[in-house]
Amino acid sequence: MRKIEHIGIAVTDLEKSNALFSALFNVDGPYKQEEVESEFVKTSFFRSGNNKIELVQGLNDDNAISKFITKRGEGLHHIAFDVADIKKEMARLKDEGFILLNEEPKIGADNKLVCFVHPKSANGVLIELCQEIPA
Ligand code: ZN
Repeated sequence: MRKIEHIGIAVTDLEKSNALFSALFNVDGPYKQEEVESEFVKTSFFRSGNNKIELVQGLNDDNAISKFITKRGEGLHHIAFDVADIKKEMARLKDEGFILLNEEPKIGADNKLVCFVHPKSANGVLIELCQEIPA
């Protein structure tokens, strides 16, 4: 894992949170917004220096974000790490005993292949692996 790619925050109202985080970072708005069809969520992205913050809202009641918020409320949801070779990293983590939430990489937001590691195998932290999709 090369670095933190982004930090994901679960929100109930993306437009409101866009305004809030715009005020926090003193910017006009997110630099990117995107729906992720495979996850039934919509996302927006902010930068703070070299760091990236992803806000995520569920599009229905039956997706990971909405379920998370029902259980635990809005807030920190996941930490994403940049990896060079997601399949290799998935195999390595599996060998180490981590529980992967998907067996194959999925298409995530912001042109990434992603895989999530179950928080119960990682001290309660949901970890996302991200590999930039080669052009
Ligand atoms: Zn993410």
